[in-house]
Amino acid sequence: MIARIDHIGIAVESIEGSRGFYELLGLTVGAIEEVPAEGVRVAFISCGESRIELLEATREDSPIARFLAQRGPGIHHLCLETTGLHEIEENLRGQGLRLLRDQPTRGSRGCWVQFVHPRSTGGVLIELSQEAPNDGSKVG
Ligand code: ZN
Repeated sequence: MIARIDHIGIAVESIEGSRGFYELLGLTVGAIEEVPAEGVRVAFISCGESRIELLEATREDSPIARFLAQRGPGIHHLCLETTGLHEIEENLRGQGLRLLRDQPTRGSRGCWVQFVHPRSTGGVLIELSQEAPNDGSKVG
């Protein structure tokens, strides 16, 4: 089941150079977290029940670096919080949709994440996430 829009991911050249706008709006930029497997540094900005995720590349082969090179800074993905991620991805795969990974992987805050390719969604990269304790448990 889809619970809500968890966050909107925005590719930025640098978090430090981009945070000022959001702080001008009175929003608080949270701690910066590095996700080495993705080659990104992320910072979440709470915004009511949703959040904004600023994504900064940490290496040239990072998906964010490629996105910035092709399109420049801007909205990168939409993240939907799910319950039962495994069932949802099996259903999508069964319908022939293109998922970016064979299995969900750990994203920021230890969440399980899977991505649906923009070609299967009408042009928007969709991240599906599921909250999970960071204790080695399996995705539900
Ligand atoms: Zn995200």
